[in-house]
Amino acid sequence: MIDAELLKIMACPWCITRPEAPPPNIEKGALELVGPAEQPNALRCRQCGRLYKIEDGIPNMLVEDAVLPGSPS
Ligand SMILES: [Zn+2]
Repeated sequence: MIDAELLKIMACPWCITRPEAPPPNIEKGALELVGPAEQPNALRCRQCGRLYKIEDGIPNMLVEDAVLPGSPS
């Protein structure tokens, strides 16, 4: 289970290694939960939109496995 505190210290591994500044009011590489509140199935980066799947309660934070916005999953 991913709680709000954990979410706050996690960040998109792609964005935090890039020099680009995030949009206003968004922290660099900030993530949000996607899916049902009681069982989210992915984390989405608010900066680049990459989707990191949560499998068996564990988020897969590998950039290679992330789904880019607009690409078929
Ligand atoms: Zn990102």
